[in-house]
Amino acid sequence: MNKCYQCGGKLKRENVDIARYWGKELIALNDVPSLICTKCGERYFDAKVSHQIDQRIQEVLKRKSSVTRIDVPVVQF
Ligand SMILES: [Zn+2]
Repeated sequence: MNKCYQCGGKLKRENVDIARYWGKELIALNDVPSLICTKCGERYFDAKVSHQIDQRIQEVLKRKSSVTRIDVPVVQF
């Protein structure tokens, strides 16, 4: 993939920090390789990376990998 599905803009490779909810747990992942549209900012992960994201989350939930914990503000909207 080298063009944005949304707007046709150019994509650049960049590592990003993301957070995913898994049930009630929120897991933050740092330095995830992604493709970002230089025009609209849409963010894409290729299939391999998406799979790795799920895999890493599973490892964390099963306490198979050590993690750093952070406090995050929670706002009722
Ligand atoms: Zn775009």
